[in-house]
Amino acid sequence: MITGKNYIGNLLSSIGKRTFKTFNPQTNLENEIVYTEASEVEIEQATSLASEAFNVFQKVSGAKKSEFLNEIANEIEALGDELIQTYCSETGLPEGRAMGERGRTVFQLRSFANLVKEGSWVEAAIDTADLSRQPIPKVDIRKMLVPLGPVVVFGASNFPLAYSTAGGDTAAALAAGCPVIVKSHPMHAGTGELVASAIIAAAEKTGMPNGVFSNLNSSGIEVGVSLVKNSRVKAIGFTGSIRGGRALYDMAAQRPEPIPVFAEMGSVNPVVLLPNAAQIKGAEWAKTYAGSITLGAGQFCTNPGLILGIKGDDLSNFIQDLSNEIVKIEPTCMLHPNIIGAYESNKAKMQEQSGLETTASFSKETSKNYGRQAITTVEGATFLANTALHQEVFGPFSMVVQCENVQQLEEIISKLEGQLTGTILAENELQNYENIVSALQNRVGRIIFNGVPTGVEVCPAMVHGGPYPASTDSRFTAVGIESIKRWVRPFSYQSWPNELLPDELKDENPLNITRLVDGLKTTKAL
Ligand code: NAP
Repeated sequence: MITGKNYIGNLLSSIGKRTFKTFNPQTNLENEIVYTEASEVEIEQATSLASEAFNVFQKVSGAKKSEFLNEIANEIEALGDELIQTYCSETGLPEGRAMGERGRTVFQLRSFANLVKEGSWVEAAIDTADLSRQPIPKVDIRKMLVPLGPVVVFGASNFPLAYSTAGGDTAAALAAGCPVIVKSHPMHAGTGELVASAIIAAAEKTGMPNGVFSNLNSSGIEVGVSLVKNSRVKAIGFTGSIRGGRALYDMAAQRPEPIPVFAEMGSVNPVVLLPNAAQIKGAEWAKTYAGSITLGAGQFCTNPGLILGIKGDDLSNFIQDLSNEIVKIEPTCMLHPNIIGAYESNKAKMQEQSGLETTASFSKETSKNYGRQAITTVEGATFLANTALHQEVFGPFSMVVQCENVQQLEEIISKLEGQLTGTILAENELQNYENIVSALQNRVGRIIFNGVPTGVEVCPAMVHGGPYPASTDSRFTAVGIESIKRWVRPFSYQSWPNELLPDELKDENPLNITRLVDGLKTTKAL
């Protein structure tokens, strides 16, 4: 049952004065439940509990953390239809999407459970002593990854399950041994509270310390700002807009003790349509891309917002086909009046830019809060001269840039901001565009051949991140088990007594994990 309260550790609490409601964009009405924003006192309590919990939780074994993560997955599944209905009523997204996202969330939790149960992820390394070494003896040094401390997670509006309360950031941080405080997204506060209740139930069932998880409601930026400035917080996970992510990053850097902010932000995900592909498969790609641009009302961070091609009849035909195809698709509901408001105003601002032509715009009457798709086009030189044209329009919108030649195409790619993805559409011609591939590779975290960027597989080889501003640190991924690396630091023990070392580093290797011993990977005891 949803209470509208905050979880301060295991306890429900609502001592704050500010309240708010979520909104159903399908009915265009507020939902009934009243949520109470977390007060400063509750923020203090949550961070203090998280700090105390860290002392215990950082030493909890991989096997126990695995039980905890699997139990969260079980509890989320046990929420059943209430979770799905709440999700739909707060997002306007269909049931199928809610169920798919729940499946992904549960899969992520179970993947981390398997990772920490096996245990080798800590990258244990042992360099044994050599007391006979000349001119000075070599000491025994042992290293492993250890958790950073309490982590604050900000989820995005467009993934209320997979990138929110128990989403990738939370699952990875808990797996690493970091307590988590979620700054709940105000647009899906009910979904957030239900998932929080599942995490708390799992924590209690598996004997985790109180404070290992808290969920704080907020209706504005104050709660998030206060959390980022709180000295007990040691790292931030953020998924959302560039503006929001950058503000939090700057705030964290200005603290007396700066802390890392792993922000996954917006992207236009450039797609390069090479000449043979435009000529041979232009019509096919137009249809496929009309689908990708409008998928989920364009509310995906991997939405293809920019298509680059070389001017000519084939590209003109592609623009025409894409324009024809996209208006055949019925618009769908967007997440919230604020999101549709931002979409309409950013689209209009873009359309006002000099030299930009709108080639398709869904003009028929739609229900309120439905996002009308648009395709625009611009000359390469105009695009190069105006960086306002490079910005993300979050919604079913895309721009085709008509480059004069390959040199201009390469220049445009190299001048783009960092991106989550880049795609190349080609027909037996890739080998002739080595410079284009290299330029694109330097700007993105994932490169796709003959496909669409929407759809992010959760697997160990996935990189979801990229050069700034796609993310604040391109060395890490936000999706897949490798994302655990964001919440840990390397730590060495020198000449430490064997019996006092963590199991991961003991001579006997009681966990039977893979370790780097004197430069060789092995599971053997010393
Ligand atoms: P958002 O407006 O940036 O909000 C995300 C969260 O950050 C909210 O909880 C918001 O709090 C908070 N926030 C925003 N600005 C803040 C500030 N200045 N100080 C403190 N807190 C702040 O993003 P959204 O509308 O939820 O999500 C859409 C965006 O996310 C799109 O740009 C999309 O591309 C991006 N996205 C990226 C990924 C990825 O993995 N890279 C995935 C999904 C979405 P309040 O709402 O309380 O203000």
